[in-house]
Amino acid sequence: MGVMVQGIPAAPGIVIGPAFVARWPRLEVPHATVGPDEIEAEVARFQAARQLAKERTSGLREQVESRLGSVQAKIFDPQLMMLEDPDLIEGTLTYICDSFLTAERAFSLRVLEFRSRWLDATHARVMDRVADLLDVQLRVLETLIDIPGPEFAVDVDDPVILVAHELTPSRMVDLDRSRVLGVATDAGTRTSHAAILARSIGLPCVVGLGDLSYRVENGVEIILDGRRGKVLIAPSESEKRWFHDRDARAKQAEKQLEGTIGEEARTRDGERIGLYANLELPADARAAVAVNADGVGLFRTEFLVVGKTAVPAEEEQYEAFKSVVDTLAPRPVTIRTFDLGGDKFPMFLPPIAEENPFLGWRGIRIYEMMPELFRYQVRAALRAAAHGQVRLLVPMVNTVDEVQRIRAVIDEARRELERDGIEHAVCPLGVMLETPASVAIAAVLGRYVDFFSLGTNDLIQYMLAVDRGNAQLSRFFDLYHPALLMYIRDAVAAASATGVPLCVCGEAASDPLGSLLLLGLGVRSLSCTPSAILGQKRLIRSIDLGQVERVVSGLLDAETGREIREQMVMKLGDVVDLAAVDADNNLSPSD
Ligand code: PEP
Ligand code: MG
Repeated sequence: MGVMVQGIPAAPGIVIGPAFVARWPRLEVPHATVGPDEIEAEVARFQAARQLAKERTSGLREQVESRLGSVQAKIFDPQLMMLEDPDLIEGTLTYICDSFLTAERAFSLRVLEFRSRWLDATHARVMDRVADLLDVQLRVLETLIDIPGPEFAVDVDDPVILVAHELTPSRMVDLDRSRVLGVATDAGTRTSHAAILARSIGLPCVVGLGDLSYRVENGVEIILDGRRGKVLIAPSESEKRWFHDRDARAKQAEKQLEGTIGEEARTRDGERIGLYANLELPADARAAVAVNADGVGLFRTEFLVVGKTAVPAEEEQYEAFKSVVDTLAPRPVTIRTFDLGGDKFPMFLPPIAEENPFLGWRGIRIYEMMPELFRYQVRAALRAAAHGQVRLLVPMVNTVDEVQRIRAVIDEARRELERDGIEHAVCPLGVMLETPASVAIAAVLGRYVDFFSLGTNDLIQYMLAVDRGNAQLSRFFDLYHPALLMYIRDAVAAASATGVPLCVCGEAASDPLGSLLLLGLGVRSLSCTPSAILGQKRLIRSIDLGQVERVVSGLLDAETGREIREQMVMKLGDVVDLAAVDADNNLSPSD
């Protein structure tokens, strides 16, 4: 039997192949000095190398823009800024002029100082900046000294699965697709730059795998499952067959599912279930329309801050929102305002030292520190609403006061737009139910909002006190925990008592068994990743909702999550072929 390592899913797809462990050689920059009469030439060498690095980075940015899009291209903006950073440049020049160091040594020392300053913060959120800095360092040094490149593909003929500690953005976009089947990294989060790029390139990828690159030997066969975030080292023949069959089944199922595009998401006993799409990028809007989603239940807007050193301008946001609204029209689009903080910490936010970023300045709380963050989004959304149905959704809300403050900003924005004669329309306002507090007072919040969006990802994290990004803790991250069932049931009851519609937009809504649980608890709208929508529709069309509700209500007094899950598989496994609905469900040989 192979060894299964759980990481964080970054880009979907199952691949089997030999591991290529890319241990990039340590950067050795020898300590060397120059004479006083060589200083001028050394400064010129540094400036020329920096200039060339800027040109190369801009070239890469352009390539990525035309190949993958503007959001992905912006990933390279912080690198261009670093190459202009007066602190980085002056510090290097001081080392050359005052300490007589060579350009390469002076620059490397300065980079090292930056790196240790940033790493003092020791949070995942600075890791993208550190990876960017490494990219910058390599690009400047490559014209100053001979540095060994990432020669991983040179000595292997067969395509490989690249295993590395982490990948910088330029290494990710540089990968030769004919040689690299997939990527597995020790570090990284779902929103790290390398993960965003892997998704855009369509390269199966798992990040956050701990010490995988030290556990795998070169050439050892591995299976990488990008959708479930798993890597299986040295699989047995039967495991390989299993994955192979599963992959083939998934592809076949995908083909068959196309037949459901024009059909309604209606259960056998006649209940129409809302099936909406979650978008991460404006470009995902086309995928949502292609699968005939009922609309967008969650448009995450964090892509707008990628590479940004200032709060994104209203106009840029308006254009992005309008493009999605136009693509989806006449269907509704739910724009969620920035959910920054946690592991998403753009450069324009003041670097705050926090012990627990997910319990710190996150979501709505940051708007207080930076009101324009919210204000521009609201104005952009109200303007986009003139072109279609737009709904505004706010993350991490805990109190009625917060909703009232938000309403006040929205009213103010409307008055301004009215006064200035700028075309706009009214948007319904909703809040995420993703903290235990918000669910507990949902009946009260319901008096102040127009809709609810229940976020199972954070609700599980905060209810069970389990870091959602920590792959080592994934077995504790349990949707089926009896406490979750009670809270979701209460949220549904509060929503219906106040007449406020509720949609679930966490990952659970994209999972077949998870969504059966949600439907059984009374949820009637799901918002899923576009690629899961047709599978979910087929599932919905195959069930008798009354039966699902009976099964789930019979489990409300179960004692453990394991029992609830097992009972569901046992009692609903014959209603619907779970494995066929989504070959990526959790029934793997090693689970
Ligand atoms: C959630 O918390 O469930 C959710 C959908 O939001 P996000 O994953 O963006 O935090
Ligand atoms: Mg959330």
